[in-house]
Amino acid sequence: MIIVLKEKTLSKQVKDLVNLLSQTGCQTSIFQENGRRYLRLNGCTICEAEEYVKDFNCIESMVFSPYPFEMASRSFKKKKTEFLVKKVRIGGSKIVMAAGPCAVEDRETLFRIARDVKSAGADILRGGAYKPRSSPYSFQGLEKEGLKILSEVGSLVDMPVITEVIDQYSIETVASYSDIIQVGARNMQNFRLLKELGQVRNPVLLKRGMSATIEEWLMAAEYILAEGNGKVILCERGIRTFEKYTRNTLDLSAVPVASGLSHLPVFVDPSHGTGRWKYVKPMSMASLAAGADGLVVEVHVTPEKALCDGEQSLLPEKFAEMMSSLKKVALTLDRTL
Ligand code: PEP
Ligand code: MN
Repeated sequence: MIIVLKEKTLSKQVKDLVNLLSQTGCQTSIFQENGRRYLRLNGCTICEAEEYVKDFNCIESMVFSPYPFEMASRSFKKKKTEFLVKKVRIGGSKIVMAAGPCAVEDRETLFRIARDVKSAGADILRGGAYKPRSSPYSFQGLEKEGLKILSEVGSLVDMPVITEVIDQYSIETVASYSDIIQVGARNMQNFRLLKELGQVRNPVLLKRGMSATIEEWLMAAEYILAEGNGKVILCERGIRTFEKYTRNTLDLSAVPVASGLSHLPVFVDPSHGTGRWKYVKPMSMASLAAGADGLVVEVHVTPEKALCDGEQSLLPEKFAEMMSSLKKVALTLDRTL
């Protein structure tokens, strides 16, 4: 339960309110968003809370979410969350395209990919520097060197960059080189990592875990929001099922479900969602129709030589071709791309 405090509430009034609630056994914590103060309440029912606080005139409203996630829910915030990453607006009517290789391999290759996706209309450059690989013998990423290359190439082509963080020890380094921090499917329930990401200023793109329910995914987002970082993007990337002809089963129903339950922008990653470049275009078109606010797509100039995920990477010309089809889909949805 969340108490929304009136804008001009004095610190003394907040203190009195917190004291009274603590005496009744409620746990309270104060947080701020956009300059507004809120009080989070645990350990009492809505009726009890209403009774305890009835004499306090510093309360604007009380928000009760019927779901186990509060700040991520539409009960807390009706309007869709929108924010800027450099000049790119996330969550607005323009659909945002993030594209690039699975992993940063070298400067020259990344530059060629970046230039091509940018000229095809991509907004954000993706590239992993810390790679969470299933096998310890697979390419693990260039780590800090990869971050430097990504950030340098991003500046050269004038695109914000997104890259994955795989543990809490490298958050500071990743945050200093990347505009958006990605939490991969494998880390969706790394709660310590999520809590620490709640303390950074960079927006976080939170992929859905491969075996996570939508509720667990939204609870993971709540961990970040509850620590004070409101800039979270949800990203559906496929879940694991019995199906073998695709790498994952892209759960597109998660898009309208998550957008209905939460005000957070919802992206789709059709590359990991299918694992085959051939299916990326049809599933990208379907993602837009399902209401996605953005896509994350893997692109490589020589997919057969890619150090990671070549089979699901589009050639730049295929990406450009897909972009022109997606523009038409966006138009029919009264959106732009
Ligand atoms: C990736 O984006 O390259 C990646 C590893 O994604 P996921 O966590 O969805 O598997
Ligand atoms: Mn990948």
